[in-house]
Amino acid sequence: MVHVGIGYDVHALVAGRKLILGGVEIPHSKGLEGHSDADVLMHAICDALLGALGEADIGHFFPNTDPRWRGAPSRIFLEEAARLAQTRPGRIVNVDATLIAQEPKIFPHLQAMKTNIAQALGIDARQVGIKATTNEHLGFLGREEGIAAMAVAGVELS
Ligand SMILES: [Zn+2]
Repeated sequence: MVHVGIGYDVHALVAGRKLILGGVEIPHSKGLEGHSDADVLMHAICDALLGALGEADIGHFFPNTDPRWRGAPSRIFLEEAARLAQTRPGRIVNVDATLIAQEPKIFPHLQAMKTNIAQALGIDARQVGIKATTNEHLGFLGREEGIAAMAVAGVELS
């Protein structure tokens, strides 16, 4: 049976931080604020996977009060979610995500993001969907105050 999960995350854009999305460092005037590398895309995908497994959210497994995760690459959160799925046992069918960012342009980096996410999850890049959209200059996302991501994941559980 395939279980689906949903994930959503948002981080504030601030000066003096690197912008890391899907494990790709993207040249930009601002980066995302957070305890880890603040990779909002990987966080949303991680929550989608945890949701498909009926687990608690990413903050439960990797609390932002834990010094171990300070500046941590979010790839390790995906690796842990994939490990959890394996122990069920479960097989990740696919993940799909949408990034909502007014700036910068995401499209040139999509393939590299897919590769990073697939590697972290131990799946093929063809099982990873990523789209990007602007917020049409509306609201906090449109004013470039933050970047959001939503994701779904399918996990086949026996
Ligand atoms: Zn996050």
